[in-house]
Amino acid sequence: LASLMNDPSLLETRAYIGGKWVDGDKGTFDVTNPARGDVVAQVADLSRAQVNGAIAQAEAAQKEWAKWTGKERAAVMRKWFDLMMANQHDLGLILTAEQGKPLAEAKGEIAYGASFIEFFGEEAKRIYGEMIPGHQRDKRIMVIKQPIGVAASITPWNFPNAMITRKAGPALAAGCAFVARPAKETPLSAIVLGVLAERAGIPAGVFNVLPSSSASEIGKEFCENPAVRKLTFTGSTEVGRILLKQAADQVMKCSMELGGNAPFIVFDDADLDAAVEGAIMCKFRNNGQTCVCANRLYVQSGAYDAFAEKLRARVAAMKVGDGLKDGTDLGPLINEDAIVKVQEHIADAKAKGGEVILGGEADQKQGNFFGPTIVTGATKDMLFSTEETFGPLAPLFKFEDEDEVIALANDTIFGLASYFYAKDLARVYKVAEALEYGIVGVNTGIISTELAPFGGVKQSGLGREGSHHGIEDYLEMKYVCLSI
Ligand code: ADP
Repeated sequence: LASLMNDPSLLETRAYIGGKWVDGDKGTFDVTNPARGDVVAQVADLSRAQVNGAIAQAEAAQKEWAKWTGKERAAVMRKWFDLMMANQHDLGLILTAEQGKPLAEAKGEIAYGASFIEFFGEEAKRIYGEMIPGHQRDKRIMVIKQPIGVAASITPWNFPNAMITRKAGPALAAGCAFVARPAKETPLSAIVLGVLAERAGIPAGVFNVLPSSSASEIGKEFCENPAVRKLTFTGSTEVGRILLKQAADQVMKCSMELGGNAPFIVFDDADLDAAVEGAIMCKFRNNGQTCVCANRLYVQSGAYDAFAEKLRARVAAMKVGDGLKDGTDLGPLINEDAIVKVQEHIADAKAKGGEVILGGEADQKQGNFFGPTIVTGATKDMLFSTEETFGPLAPLFKFEDEDEVIALANDTIFGLASYFYAKDLARVYKVAEALEYGIVGVNTGIISTELAPFGGVKQSGLGREGSHHGIEDYLEMKYVCLSI
């Protein structure tokens, strides 16, 4: 990997704590390339005591950082953003090597991730308060917004860069200090953010990267340490529930980006070619391993056969392989467990009458590859109706009318992203309002941008990331009552 990079010094494996590069008290853990199975790097494995020490340093640094003007914070964040973009290729290589997604997609994630640092740096200047007319003649009501304090993040492996920047961006802009525990599968993409933060002049202790092989130990420290005032998590609903319970003991503020089970609906009046392209972008991005990937595709009966055939033809042409090789459309899945889950969902669908019209097989020459798969005749009793597959499996359900599909789409504990394709304007409004989701894509399969509020309803989470709303999750409102 280092030999492919323009600047091999970006391949750092130590933790970044209080502006220093630190080895792990517990030695190291291996990071493997999911396409080849070889060890990419051995990364510092921190003990709980080291994480405790890092939080103390963050707490001290935060007090100074909060005194900086928004404009001063914006200036160093802009430098940080510029460095990410200047090193986009190297950051992309690191990401592909540890996560598997094709290099072009990895570089896309770097640009997406960097955009949160750019955007929220700019927002640092716009943390406005408010004057409210007083309740008595001598009273003035002033409202100011202040940073919460130290924010701790726990993030997954599917977007090793962007899941961190979209939390660290608003946190730092608000004047919080940040301690990040990256997924153990993908710590290198997080550590390199520390390298660039240091080069950009983000003060020591404001941004810290804490790799550890034990998520539950670090999660406990984050929840039990009184210096941590905010927990921000992206991952499964299952782990989100555990963290919310733990965080309850000290009434910690929490942001939760949890699982989804996105419906993707194609109405008879849709532009079918556009719907197929949207479905591909939405279903197969990151090989189906995003929390906004279409999990259930509902196609109205008049368009069903044509849509299935067009989708099959397009997906059949997609190339599965090593993300570092040119021309790869789909990389490997993250690990063996991910493959097993896709296989379970396919076997279950087949047993209940579904038909596999494309793929269905693991391709285990080397690495965790799985051919993109389409199942027709999907029904409500199949596993993917209630569970996120998190892999390259597109099940096609047939429906007859609008009310039926809205009920089916909403019949889940999740409520993150949803999508539909239709042309009728009244239908567009009606369905967009009826879907119980935090995000609705209408005639598009791609909804992610730093400019929009991303987040879920129901058991998909709490809070929003991105847009001017995203910074509110890192601010406290203070009411000052002035008597004059
Ligand atoms: P995913 O399937 O996307 O990995 P998880 O919710 O299992 O979703 O993991 C998301 C992140 O949460 C990972 O970094 C993982 O290591 C971490 N994690 C898992 N279990 C716990 C826990 N009990 N406490 C804190 N973090 C955890």
